[in-house]
Amino acid sequence: MHVPERTCVGCGKKQAKHLLRRLVLNEKNQPRLDRTQDAPGRGAYLCGPGCLAAAVKRKALQRAFKKNVALDVINLEAVLQ
Ligand SMILES: [Zn+2]
Repeated sequence: MHVPERTCVGCGKKQAKHLLRRLVLNEKNQPRLDRTQDAPGRGAYLCGPGCLAAAVKRKALQRAFKKNVALDVINLEAVLQ
C-alpha cells in the first residue's frame, strides 16, 4: 500500500505523513498544530519539538508557508510535545 510521505522542514528527512506533525497557519499567521492533518491551506511538517529549533534557524517555516509567520516558539514547542 502506498504511504504518503512528507519532508520535515526541520531536519529534511522524509517520513510517512501520519508520523509527522502538520502545522498550518491560523488567521493571525501563527503556526498551529493541525491535529487531524486535514485543515485547508498550506502545511509544514515536523518530526517533533526537536526539529522546531532547526526549522526556525533555517527560516523553513517562512519558506514552507511562503510568508512571514508570527512565530511563538515557546508555545509551539509546547503543543508539539
Ligand atoms: Zn525532523
